[in-house]
Amino acid sequence: MGQRIAVVEDERDILETLCLSLEREGYEPAGFEDGAAALLAFRDRVPELVILDWMLPGMSGLDLCRILRGDQRFSRTAILMLTARGTEMDAVAGLNAGADDYVVKPFRTRELMARVKALLRRSTQAGDQQSLKRLGTLWLDTATYRAGTGDTVFDLTPTEFRLLELLIRHPGRVYTRGQILTGLWPDDRAVEDRAVDVHIARLREKMGRDDQWVETVRGVGYRMKSE
Ligand code: CA
Repeated sequence: MGQRIAVVEDERDILETLCLSLEREGYEPAGFEDGAAALLAFRDRVPELVILDWMLPGMSGLDLCRILRGDQRFSRTAILMLTARGTEMDAVAGLNAGADDYVVKPFRTRELMARVKALLRRSTQAGDQQSLKRLGTLWLDTATYRAGTGDTVFDLTPTEFRLLELLIRHPGRVYTRGQILTGLWPDDRAVEDRAVDVHIARLREKMGRDDQWVETVRGVGYRMKSE
């Protein structure tokens, strides 16, 4: 069985083209024309990845993204936003709502397929390493994609998890925004430095009172406290 990918898009042509292409690539696509229908179907089948259009009738793609990110059951679901607007503001809003990546319309199907593949590959890789990393009371399990401290489990998105995993590899080492960008988005594309700050801010928020772990190195980047 292929990996389950949901496409939420009210433009029929795009919806059909994407579903066909995904099927051809060996995935199991399911198409939805609005967010409410998608949410209803997700109750029975949690998708591995959701391709989510921003502008939808009724619930917007951004609203649906927030709902999914607020629900533990979708913590391992990757979200790829489609947006017709290409401003940095919108990209940041999408990432802020918990999206893992975004593609600006109009796009080439081939480019989108490459992004889909990359997002799914990252989730699988993290799941295959099967190791538990520890730093003081902090723990991170790449087999279950969970991280936390003591009995507390952080509610992280796949991107936030990978960010924490990157930082925890070398406690004390400073990572520049550029290095974090390359670590999180290795594909050849231009993600703004600002995206790193957005994800760091969200990660800290999720870590709650344990946010002192991630330190800002002014003018350089970020590092994990070394105990
Ligand atoms: Ca639309």
